[in-house]
Parts: sequence; structure tokens; C-alpha cells
Amino acid sequence: MNKLIKKVVIVGGGTAGWMSAALLKKTLGSVVEIELVESEEIGRIGVGEATIPPIRYFNQALGVNEADFLRETKASIKLAIKFEGWRVPDESYYHTFGATGKDFVWCPFYHFWIRANQLGHTTNLWDYNLNYLCAEANKFAPLTAKDTALEMPYAYHFDASLYAIFLRKFSENLGVKRTEGLVEQVNVNPDSGYVENLALKNGTKINGDLFIDCSGSRALLIQQKLETGFEDWSHWLPCDRAIAVPSERLDITLAYTRSIAHAAGWQWRIPLQHRVGNGIVYSSNHCSQDEATNILLNSLGSKPMADLNFISFKTGRRLKQWNRNVIAIGLSSGFLEPLESTSIHLIQSALVRLLKLFPRAGIDEANVSEYNKQSKIEFEQVRDFIILHYHVNERTDSQFWRDLRTMKIPESLTHKINLFRSTGKIIREHDDLFSESSWLQVLVGQGIMPRDYHPLADGISEKDLLEMLANMRKIKQSPISHLPSHDEFLKQVCAV
Ligand SMILES: Cc1cc2nc3c(=O)[nH]c(=O)nc-3n(C[C@H](O)[C@H](O)[C@H](O)COP(=O)(O)OP(=O)(O)OC[C@H]3O[C@@H](n4cnc5c(N)ncnc54)[C@H](O)[C@@H]3O)c2cc1C
Repeated sequence: MNKLIKKVVIVGGGTAGWMSAALLKKTLGSVVEIELVESEEIGRIGVGEATIPPIRYFNQALGVNEADFLRETKASIKLAIKFEGWRVPDESYYHTFGATGKDFVWCPFYHFWIRANQLGHTTNLWDYNLNYLCAEANKFAPLTAKDTALEMPYAYHFDASLYAIFLRKFSENLGVKRTEGLVEQVNVNPDSGYVENLALKNGTKINGDLFIDCSGSRALLIQQKLETGFEDWSHWLPCDRAIAVPSERLDITLAYTRSIAHAAGWQWRIPLQHRVGNGIVYSSNHCSQDEATNILLNSLGSKPMADLNFISFKTGRRLKQWNRNVIAIGLSSGFLEPLESTSIHLIQSALVRLLKLFPRAGIDEANVSEYNKQSKIEFEQVRDFIILHYHVNERTDSQFWRDLRTMKIPESLTHKINLFRSTGKIIREHDDLFSESSWLQVLVGQGIMPRDYHPLADGISEKDLLEMLANMRKIKQSPISHLPSHDEFLKQVCAV
């Protein structure tokens, strides 16, 4: 099929649909026509409120003003995730977006910290992390210092429905055509097997050259029509249910997500300007719906503001995220539980990949296979990082945690854990989304202390080592007293 790609049809108006419409129109709007079809009858999943720092580049690429975004989506700042009870019930640690110390060219800073520990000078790893210090002090303002030790990457918590509305307005202003209607039939060309058009319930037909399937877990085109297949990862990630409910805002808006482990899964707490997003994620093989509901409602901390939203899911990925002339983006492309807030990022990253490999005259199989190869690597890397949190645990209070500790994990993850445990080294492959600092915090937070460290950390005397560590702690502390509280920051920026 060598036909010029002139029209892109997006099916679905959730976060994935409207992010796709906004970015594709902004970048390719002069060469392709974009139409989005969504059905109010079906609605959106209605969750997905925590993000990771690259979302800021997405908004910047659209040219969105940060203050407008914060105000209209009732967003707050996210510096980290606090993992509570993940190693053992009464302990917690942070996975922040910031660096630990400041790395040397050949040797990351933390190797010096390991050496000091081995010499008996124990300090908290997170005292070298500005994001942690600000999260604990509940302080925030964007920092512009040139010193990389004082960088403080951040992301957002936002109201998912308000973000979809925000992006819809943005996209329609740019000229995206929105069609309200229920897609009843997906018609393919009998010779090529390519999708030709969508038939709506009201009788309308929508033709297109390229179709983006953002229909959520229904996977209307990629699975229901093209039967692409799914790789099931639930043997590694057994949680398969979630219950979500918003509750009234608390006095202080935390600048981090709380992830609280329980006997058969975990709970999230996401602070927004106007409310708190709460939910519980659990394994239905280890916990009943009633038990999960009780855990959630008994630990809300404020009054619920809506009915409970019950959600089922299966962890895994679509075998091909691009099949013929259909590209699955969002929940239709696969699902990884929201432990590290990666789903919205996977939407963004799929869009960037699609833009780089966007077809012009027809669809080339080499192009499709490159797209699918990159998507597979990315999903697997995120999967491994999430499994790490569960697998390296020391909890003895339930079968769930014992099963996860003793299960066989992917080879790729076994290698990473073994390498760190014995040498202290962390290797990032293929542009792994998670930095060395991310892996370090979760590995140490889950209780793995390396047996060795890089020899370069022996290059200074013990006295200089301790002085260097003390200086680094001082540098990281230095901006905090000048920063406003997170709530003061939000008030200043969002004032109308
Ligand atoms: C419990 C839970 C918590 C999560 N938390 C986070 C988080 O904190 N951070 C994060 O990054 N991600 C999170 N996610 C993932 C996030 O919610 C999704 O990645 C994101 O919302 C994208 O969803 P979507 O647009 O693919 O699907 P949906 O929101 O389900 O949208 C599907 C769209 O398709 C349309 N549609 C479907 N069928 C038809 C049809 N026949 N005709 C017309 N239209 C149709 C619907 O109307 C709707 O507009 C979470 C997911 C779950 C399950």
C-alpha cells in the first residue's frame, strides 16, 4: 500500500486520545488531517493522575503555559514517591526524581557513600538528595541554579478528567475535528487487511489512512478487529484489580505520591489542589473485593467525594503495538500497574516514537517492526523495575509477599540485582527510562546493600571522604530555607 498518509483517525478521547490528537496536530497538522472519535456513552477510565518528569517536555512541546496547566487541571507538584511498608511493614523509603549527590565522570557519587558505610560511617542515602529533602520539608519552587547538584526534577499530579478537557480544548483550537459517536464496526479492506473505515452507531462512516487505537482496554481495533494478541505478565505482577475513590483535600498538599503496601497489594494517595486521589491495587487471588474495599475506606484520611470505581486489569503488553495501519496507544497497547506512574509516560513516548517513524507514502514493514521492537524493550524495562519493588521484599505477613519473593523473575532483572548486590554497579541499557539514581533508591530502599564499590572511591583518604560527604549534605540543604511551601507555591502560581 503506497497511498499517501493524509488522514489520521484517533479512536478514543481519554488521556491517550487527547494527548495523541494534541501532539500530532501540533507537529504534523500542516500535512495530515486529524479526526478524533469518542463516545460519551462509554466514557473514560477516570484514573491516571500521577506522572513522571518527562510530562513537562510534552507540555512544553505543545507550548502550554505551566501556570495555566496547573490552574486548569488542579495539579500539584510531584518530587517523589514515598514507598511505605514495601520492604517490611513499618519502614519507608523514597524514590525521588533527583540525583543522589553529584556524579564523577567515571564513578557515581553513591560508591563513595557505600565506602563510608563499609568504614562504619553510616549516613542516610537520601540526605544527599534534594528532592527528598524538599519533599520531607514540603517546600517547592522551580530551581534555576547552574550547579547540577542543585537540580530538582519534578512532575505533576493532576485531575485526569480535567487534563483530558484541557487537551481537548487545546486540540480543537488547533483544528482537530472531534466526532461524538459510538464505533460499532471496524471495516477492513479484504485484500490488504488494512482498516479502511469506522462505522458509527448513528450511521456515519469515518475513513482514514492511519488509525490510532486509543479505545482503552477495549482495544477495539488492535485486538477486537485485528486480533493482534497479548503477552500476559500476571505471573510476575499478580495484581489484577483496583478500586479508586477521591476524598476531600487535606490541610497540606504533599509534593509526593504515597504508595502504601498492604497484605495483598498497595494503595495510592495522590494529593491535588481540590481533593486527594485514592485507590487500592490488589491481587484477587489473595484478597476479596470486600476486604480491599474495607482497607481502602478505613484508611482514607478524609471524607469520600464519589462512589467507588471498580477496575479490573491484566498486566502485559500487546504483541505488536503497531499492526498494519493501526497503532495502539494507551491502555489498548498494554498495561503496567501504576506503581511508578508510567502509563501516561508510555503514551508520550509512543507518540514521540510514532512521530520519528511517521509513514509518508504507505506503510513499510521495516518501519513497523522498528516501532514494535522499541516499544517491546521499553515495556519490558518498566516491567522489570516494577517487579523489583515486589520481589525484593522481607515481609512475612502474607502469602502474597512470600509468593512474590520466591517467584522466578525475568533474567534481565536477575542480572541487574546480582550485579548491584556484588559490585554496587548499575548499568542502564537502551535508554532505560529509569536513571541509575532511580534504580539505586529502590534497590537500597528494598534492603540491598552492595558488597563492593567502584575502586575509584578508594582514591581519597578517609578524612577527605567524610569531608566530601559532609559538604555534599550541606550543598543539598542550602536552597531549602529560601523556598516557599508547596501550598504557597501553588497559591502564587494559580492565583487568578
Ligand atoms: C487503577 C489505575 C490507576 C492508574 N494510575 C495512573 C497514574 O497514576 N499515572 C499514570 O501515568 N497512569 C495511570 N493509569 C493509567 C492511565 O489511567 C491510562 O494510561 C490513561 O488514562 C489512558 O487511558 P486511555 O486513554 O488509553 O483509555 P480510556 O480513558 O479508557 O479512554 C478510552 C476512550 O475510548 C473511547 N471508546 C472506547 N470504545 C469506544 C467505541 N466503541 N466508540 C467510541 N469511543 C470508544 C471511550 O469513550 C474513551 O474516550 C492508571 C490506570 C489504572 C487502571
